[in-house]
Amino acid sequence: MEMIPANRLQKLPPYLFADLRRKIAEKRRLGVKVITLGIGDPDYPTPDPVLRELVRAIADPNDGDRHRYGCDAPVADLSRAIRDFYRRRYGVSLSDDQIAVTSGSKDAIVQFCLGILNPGDLGIAPQPGYPTYNIGHVFCSGQTHYVPLRRGNGWLVDFKEIPEDVAREAKLLWINYPNNPTTAVATPDFFKEAVEFGRKHNILICHDSAYAENTYDGYKAPSILQVPGAEDTAVEFYSLSKGFNMTGWRVGCVVGNTPAVKALKLVKDNIDNGMLRAIQFAAVKALDSMESIVPAINSVYQRRRDMVVSALEQAGWPVEKPKATIYVWAPTPEQYNGSSAAFAEDLLEKAGLVVTPGRGYGVTGDGYYRISLTYPDEVIKEALDRIMTVAGKK
Ligand SMILES: *Cc1c(COP(=O)(O)O)cnc(C)c1O
Repeated sequence: MEMIPANRLQKLPPYLFADLRRKIAEKRRLGVKVITLGIGDPDYPTPDPVLRELVRAIADPNDGDRHRYGCDAPVADLSRAIRDFYRRRYGVSLSDDQIAVTSGSKDAIVQFCLGILNPGDLGIAPQPGYPTYNIGHVFCSGQTHYVPLRRGNGWLVDFKEIPEDVAREAKLLWINYPNNPTTAVATPDFFKEAVEFGRKHNILICHDSAYAENTYDGYKAPSILQVPGAEDTAVEFYSLSKGFNMTGWRVGCVVGNTPAVKALKLVKDNIDNGMLRAIQFAAVKALDSMESIVPAINSVYQRRRDMVVSALEQAGWPVEKPKATIYVWAPTPEQYNGSSAAFAEDLLEKAGLVVTPGRGYGVTGDGYYRISLTYPDEVIKEALDRIMTVAGKK
């Protein structure tokens, strides 16, 4: 028998870093001690109060439902915690029909598309940007229009760059601030403009706020739902992954526009069975304790950010200090003529160091590279030493 996979798999973009990965393997075979600052996945463990709550809940003999499908035995306190959190954090009131609990945002982005897009439908995604928006469209046999993010516009979507016919046709538009990979943050005015654009063109504005809590120097990231009337046209994807060191736990929520939330819930009812109750209890703990948990996590990233920014400065490759996210997004040094791939290859070749070339996030990401701050200080120090050598400053 010849097994032929679905055509849609051929429409997936090639894995961004397949080529780089092959080169890394080759270097390692040659005995080079390759180090990487490539991936954004917190190295520090999940905070103790959250872990303890998981252990308590999983061991609680009085909870006869602790082993059951989360969809049949949801922890009611979790929607309470999400509502409280949005009120405390943003001053936004949510009703229960404006909240869908998700197993993290990546899964939710694709499931959400399944609930919104018909074959052939158009979605707008930013470039450079997180690849999963387009992948969600592909799984629905939809199409993607890419809107470029540019440095000159603070890496914000310039709504004037979306052609009239695209705006007429598109069903949804993805935005993500604080932004991966550019580290840009949104102003409340930008969110207002996004909501106006959504209303005017009948487009669902989907705001991915994966880095909402990873902020520095006193900066607090706003929510799109703070714009009055935003829930008419917007949803927000919130995740505990990056802000609470909980990537492997798979917890988040989608909140806002009621019909869109309802569509997502219907998809979820039919393709997943919810989340282990102990994880839901732990998520309640995390959200309720946000104010005591998050500052310690951010102080680590802020310290690492400062190390990286000052070393790049000394290398003669200066970069702006990001206010948010777990990355530094830096222009490739001049001699590489804007080729992030050439720079990344050179760093690997000369220093055994892996950074993420911006080109991997789309053509408009070229000319930049991304360093992730989710590596131990010693690893980052060693990496920065190697950068100094390549830059000829050592
Ligand atoms: C990491 C990341 C996510 C995914 O987070 P999960 O909730 O763990 O699935 C979503 N969006 C962006 C932009 C990310 O960088």
